[in-house]
Amino acid sequence: MKLIDSNKRTNAATNFTESAPFLRNHRAILIHRPVSAGLYELKSFGSHIAVKCFCGATFSGTHQLEFVNEPNEDEVVCNACEQRAIMRGMPSSEEIVGRHVHTGKMVLKMICSHEGREGV
Ligand SMILES: [Zn+2]
Repeated sequence: MKLIDSNKRTNAATNFTESAPFLRNHRAILIHRPVSAGLYELKSFGSHIAVKCFCGATFSGTHQLEFVNEPNEDEVVCNACEQRAIMRGMPSSEEIVGRHVHTGKMVLKMICSHEGREGV
């Protein structure tokens, strides 16, 4: 799928113009939708890719990032990515995959230090 902001990664050694439509971060829960991506070659950090998603989240790394053609049936696509992708004229996740796709978001749960620790 074409990355619609691929020209915005000016410091990348290589700008990706296309990728699979979904990004799985093996250290995170939600599946995101990439809007731009690039390969970086830094002496201090080595080769790695950096990906910006429709929701504004950015990820960089090597093996924990995986571009995938569809999320697994038990995975959840970032709802902010989904809504912003559609607003920018991209097909919905369901249109891409051809089946129902769950969307969702992370919710912050505040645990006050004055009330003790949860789960202890
Ligand atoms: Zn997202």
